[in-house]
Amino acid sequence: MSSYENTCRYFSQAAELMGLTSNMRKLLQTPQREVKVQVGLEMDNGEIGTYIGYRVQHDTSRGPMKGGLRFHAEVDAEEVLSLATLMTWKTAIVNLPYGGAKGGIAVNVRDLSAGELERLTRKFVDEIHDMVGPDKDIPAPDMGTNAQIMAWIMNQYQKYHGFNPACVTGKPLELHGSEGREEATGRGVVIVIAAMLERLNLKFDQLTFALQGFGNVGSYTARFLTEHKAKILAVTDATGGVWNPAGLDIPQLLEYAAAHGGVKDFPASEPMSNEEFIAAPVDVLIPAALGGVLTAENARDVRAKYVVEAANGPVTAEADHIFEEREILVLPDVLVNAGGVTVSYFEWVQNRQHFRWDLPRVRNELERIMTDSFNRVWNIATEKKVPLRVAAYLLGIGRVGRATVLGGI
Ligand code: GLU
Repeated sequence: MSSYENTCRYFSQAAELMGLTSNMRKLLQTPQREVKVQVGLEMDNGEIGTYIGYRVQHDTSRGPMKGGLRFHAEVDAEEVLSLATLMTWKTAIVNLPYGGAKGGIAVNVRDLSAGELERLTRKFVDEIHDMVGPDKDIPAPDMGTNAQIMAWIMNQYQKYHGFNPACVTGKPLELHGSEGREEATGRGVVIVIAAMLERLNLKFDQLTFALQGFGNVGSYTARFLTEHKAKILAVTDATGGVWNPAGLDIPQLLEYAAAHGGVKDFPASEPMSNEEFIAAPVDVLIPAALGGVLTAENARDVRAKYVVEAANGPVTAEADHIFEEREILVLPDVLVNAGGVTVSYFEWVQNRQHFRWDLPRVRNELERIMTDSFNRVWNIATEKKVPLRVAAYLLGIGRVGRATVLGGI
């Protein structure tokens, strides 16, 4: 099942419960605009590289569209469409005044020099600058992109449209970025876990965790879990996996991964394969990297009681069904990882007001929004006796649907 079929399956489950007509379903699901561009690039060695870039603008009923830009070898039209759709529900679930969008370029960034990456980014902006902007569609970082790339995007966009830092978020602090944006997704993940543990009358130090991914989301999640005295027994990334039944030393692992480009061969740990990771004897499994990693093939191997979707779309619809049968609680991506886009919203607000917030303010507002959104989702799930994902979709689709009808079709 493709990532888009997955997102549609989740949408349909909620739409069914809401009694949405098929016309309304079609209206809400169909993207407004899907753009595919060719980005020709002069490589350092004089050869010509050709890359395909995408921007999918899914829904605009609640405000300008918002969503990240992914630079990854596996980016394709369908994945971007699926991720754009997720952004529409995500921004609605945390009640930001945005619609959803997503973009990407099919490229392995490790194959490019810094100069090639900059030229690729700027040429992509040349292709799409007319369809994005602070009141239209605001890109942000995602897999394979970072604050530096956002700075190039802002700079290139401004060549066409003049000073306008709110045209992109996730920028460096020195260039109109926000305090707390880099840590935001990981921080949001841990805020949502804290809210869940409170409902379940559990404490972080009573549970063990395993984390897939040690990039921006995974590493900040690990850091904040450690602040709560949670024990992280396993971490895997693109280089390999490490396991320590007594708990990994996360501050040291962060240093090690920064110095060695990954977690592989970290001292005071055993190596761990991906299969072993999936079946790790821990309480909480946190996929924080790629989509589609928990599937019908491996969902029965999972021994954790909780799956926390820090990545976008890590659990396929079949696996989700198996987890429901096995009474494994899944905290869904559209809620769990919404901290990133929430602080992107704060950045956009600050840019538009030319006023800076300090870190405590960003953190407080993030905590308020994430906790409130979690509580709403939890209450819907309890009232309607549905899984948390369905509850989150009911909340998000309900908001988008009402805005669509109120605005007039
Ligand atoms: N790429 C992130 C996401 O998937 C952040 C998007 C944003 O900040 O606009 O939610």
